[in-house]
Amino acid sequence: MSEKMLFIDEALASLQESGLYNNIRAIESAQGAWLQIEGKKVLNMCSNNYLGLANHPRLVQAAKAAIDKYGVGPAAVRSIAGTQSIHEELDQEVAKFKHAEAALTLQGGFLANQAVIPSLVGKTDTILSDELNHASIIDGARLSSAKIKVFRHKDLAHLEELLQGPNDGRVLVITDGVFSMDGDIGDLDKIVELCEKYGAMSMVDDAHGEGVLGSHGRGIVDHFKLHGRCDVEIGTFSKAIGTVGGFVAGSAKLITYLKQRARPFLFSSALPAADVGATLEAFRLLQESDELVQKLWENARFFKQGMQDLGFDTGLSQTPITPVMIGEADVARQFSALLFTKGIFAMAIGFPTVPRGKARIRVMISASHSRGDLEFALEKFAAAGKEMELIS
Ligand SMILES: *Cc1c(COP(=O)(O)O)cnc(C)c1O
Repeated sequence: MSEKMLFIDEALASLQESGLYNNIRAIESAQGAWLQIEGKKVLNMCSNNYLGLANHPRLVQAAKAAIDKYGVGPAAVRSIAGTQSIHEELDQEVAKFKHAEAALTLQGGFLANQAVIPSLVGKTDTILSDELNHASIIDGARLSSAKIKVFRHKDLAHLEELLQGPNDGRVLVITDGVFSMDGDIGDLDKIVELCEKYGAMSMVDDAHGEGVLGSHGRGIVDHFKLHGRCDVEIGTFSKAIGTVGGFVAGSAKLITYLKQRARPFLFSSALPAADVGATLEAFRLLQESDELVQKLWENARFFKQGMQDLGFDTGLSQTPITPVMIGEADVARQFSALLFTKGIFAMAIGFPTVPRGKARIRVMISASHSRGDLEFALEKFAAAGKEMELIS
């Protein structure tokens, strides 16, 4: 390789040395409680498949039916010739599920932030953003060229101080609904109140709240009963909903505007029908019954209590996201590797996804786990934790 690319070797070597190099494992089976990886059957403790919908027979069937009717490719961006009637059906279903006036589905949650934030604020405006907001919010905010002011994590006094200004132009306050690395819940009720007091726009990215919080998993807006008061709600289908895609929900006016303005909507092709069909089925299933949501919470409470009883630090989590706090990234990687040999697939997460010195194993509980699965996991965590002297 030529001289000019040597920086890549150096960067990779430095990641290896500091234990931050991420080995990506390929999964040889469908998503579920158990996976096959490197020919080995392992218990899945790190996917976002909260409700076990990623391989649910009803969703699989709906995807096949959608392919039979609409084919496999959208063949265009939604704003030109890529909107099939099934896309509009999904827009309406999302709005109904969220109790919002309208919704617009996009190709992903990451993209939804790129679509929405630069449509709402520009270089003469201001964004107030929680310091632990997801990378897609950070990138969407940067893309907008607005002035970005970061408030300390869930520090409402700090947010209010920033809202008092002076601030340039329009002000948009953005928070995660559930913070993905710690599992704590954003104070959206208080944030919306502050936004109303100071005339700022409020926006939440509820990627980890959908299918988890609120009645039937309607998310954080439903959890705090803020329907019609939170200006912009971003979401994803890639977590609890079990498929792929993103959306924005809000007022009819907002959605009409985004269809004219949002660049990923205007310049990147629509979701394929199979995915749209499966997603529609997921929303129908959730509205019929909240059994899976209840099971998810029951599992989360059982596992978290078990880990705490063993002496593990599960951080600040208020949701099924269960961080097992380790500290140093290389220790977390070794722990993850040891767990894998014992049949547990639980990935270590280090910088830059979490701050340096705050590496962890992030355990993701799912409704697809049986009580026996969780007992197996606790037994293996106990054994590995003792072997590495993380617990006594
Ligand atoms: C996972 C996540 C996303 C990305 O969603 P995709 O649909 O996978 O692109 C966006 N925002 C937050 C807060 C997330 O946790």
